[in-house]
This record gives sequence, C-alpha cells and structure tokens, in this order.
Amino acid sequence: MSTDLLTTLSKTLLMGPGPSCVPDQVYSALAKDTIGHLDSRFIAIMDEIKKRLQTLLQTQNKLTIPISGTGSAGMETCFVNLIEAGDPVLILKNGVFGMRMVDLAERLRADVDVLEFEWGTPVIVDAVKKKLAQKFYKILAVVHAETSTGVMNPVEEISRLLEGSNSLFLVDCVTSLGGIPVKTDEWKVDAIYSGTQKCLSCPPGLAPVSFSDRAITAVKARKTKIPNWYLDLTMIINYWGGATRAYHHTAPINMLYGLYAALGVILDEGLDKVYARHKAAHDYLVAGLGSLGLSMTVTPESRLPMLNSVNIPDGVNDVAIRTALIKDHDIEIGAGLGPLAGKIWRIGLMGHTARTENVDRLIATLKTLL
Ligand SMILES: *Cc1c(COP(=O)(O)O)cnc(C)c1O
Repeated sequence: MSTDLLTTLSKTLLMGPGPSCVPDQVYSALAKDTIGHLDSRFIAIMDEIKKRLQTLLQTQNKLTIPISGTGSAGMETCFVNLIEAGDPVLILKNGVFGMRMVDLAERLRADVDVLEFEWGTPVIVDAVKKKLAQKFYKILAVVHAETSTGVMNPVEEISRLLEGSNSLFLVDCVTSLGGIPVKTDEWKVDAIYSGTQKCLSCPPGLAPVSFSDRAITAVKARKTKIPNWYLDLTMIINYWGGATRAYHHTAPINMLYGLYAALGVILDEGLDKVYARHKAAHDYLVAGLGSLGLSMTVTPESRLPMLNSVNIPDGVNDVAIRTALIKDHDIEIGAGLGPLAGKIWRIGLMGHTARTENVDRLIATLKTLL
C-alpha cells in the first residue's frame, strides 16, 4: 500500500480568501453517523438549518435553504431560476465575482448591461441611479463583499434605488455572511446566495440561498422551463418544504450536519459579538501591518473586515513570501487576482479565523520573512 496522504496533512492556519479555519464542533458534526436523507431525524435537522439561516440572513423568506454545491452553485441557482433568454439584466462589476455574474447571465442569453468600476474601489451609487433611469431591468445584481479586492459594496444604498420598482435585487453575500450584517428583508433583496467556507467556517460544499415571495412569483411566471435540472428550485422545494418530502437528489447528509453545527456556533456566540470580533481582528491586523510598513489597498470606508488586501512593497517577492508562509509556517494567505495579481496579498479573517492571536502569529512570521 502507498502512504496514506491524509497523514501528511498538518494543521494549517487558513488566512486566505477561503476556506477559513473550522471549529472542532463542526469537525465532530461532520463525523457523525450518516443516516437516510428522508429519515425524520434528518428532516428535523433540515428544518432547523432553514431557521438558523433565516436568522443569519435576517429574513422571513420561507424559501431559505442550502443548495448542494459551493458558493458558485448558489450563484447559478439565483440566475438560472430567474433569467429567461432576452431578459434585461444589469450587473455591477468591480472584481472577479461580478465578472462571473456577467459570464453566467450571458450564458443564459440574458440582455446583459454591465456597469464597471475600478477594481479596489466600490460601486458608485450615482452611476447606478443614472443607468436605472434609462432602462427597466428585470434584475439588478451586485456582490456585497468582493473577495477578489477586499471592497465592501454599498448594498443598502443601492437597494434604495429600487424602491417602488419592479426590478428584482440579486446579491452575492458569499464572503459577507457571518462577518458583517446581511439584512436580506430590510434591503429588500429578492435572491441572495452564500457559501459555507468563508465566514461560516464550515468546509466548502453548501450554498445557502434565499428567495423572496416576489422572486418566487417571477420563477412561477416563467414562459420557459428552468434550463438546469439540478438547481431547479421548483423541484428542490418539494424536498426542503411541506409536510411530506419528495426525493430530488440525495442531500449531502454529513455536510448538512456540519452546516447545522457551524450555524449553531455562530448563533451561540451571538451575531453582534461575531461582527465585533471580525472588526476587532481587522483593526488589529491593519495596525500590525502598518507597524511592518505595509499599506492597505482599499480606503478605510470601503474595507471588508474579513478580507484584507495589502499592497506588496516594491522589491518583495510575492510568491517567495507566500511559499515560505505555507511551507515553513503552516500559514496560508491569498494572492492577488486579475489586474491585482502580483500587486497585493489577500489576508482573510473569516469566521473562526478572525481572532487577534491568529493576527499575532501572522504578523510575527511576516516580520521574520520581510
Ligand atoms: C468564494 C466566492 C464565490 C464562489 O464560491 P465557491 O464556493 O468558490 O464556489 C462567489 N462569490 C464570492 C464573493 C466569493 O468570495
């Protein structure tokens, strides 16, 4: 027999753009005995997951469930259920994840307009206002926390532009959920998606989504069939809702145990405390990086606490530092993407990772390497 590769894994401090560190309660949950996906004990766990997600997403939406798949499956679920060919869609793009929305909407043959903003800066609300005044869009889509740059987009201000309009508001909260408030109902978001391995601190594999009643009405009013069988919410809902549950696809049972536990950890700590912990770790990191002479990429008002973009100083070898961090010190940080490749590092303080002791370890290590 060859060596067991799993025994070569060491405990790594995950300070990149996801996955984040996973608490022991979640690992224990993942290791519980697998039961049947229609077992009444499992249905009870599913129902509790829906409730916990509603609390975290600050929504009463009945259709609030985890999709089987990573955050991208959540994105695909929102777009594929709502878009029909020719539908006018406006996408606000200032990073990789906005770019992916454009790619997906185009594949669905929507009539896509894109408002682009400089990477590393937030969406300019006035520009969106002007665009919305020119044309009716069935969907306006934006990324709340742009993980590729560390920018927080002004979702609340953008939502106000849609007051009294029939446009649907679609939001990516993959990185924001569990790190900063996501107010689905207050912001009148119609379709929203997240992922487990960012601030929820559960391994990758599930994508929480929530649809408003307005969004469900839009799905039901489609003239054409949803062009994706696996992510068709009209079928999935028969497994996740109602008195009797019908098989659609086998739920990833143990992943759902993990999400159940991860949501429990967050809600036990309390949402306000969780957000405050992210902010405190972020402030501490910014100060620590400053003491090493490193500067932040994003202006203070638009910085995400859970994803910190740092300018790589001239003469410092990006790859050499990241390689030393992971190989010699078991610390993972992220590289820059797209136009920011080689120019920035992305330091994650997501979920369980967002603790000052982790910042201390990173800063002390960077000090020896720089
Ligand atoms: C990570 C991420 C995604 C994609 O999630 P996967 O789990 O990698 O599929 C989408 N949007 C944002 C903002 C992300 O950070």
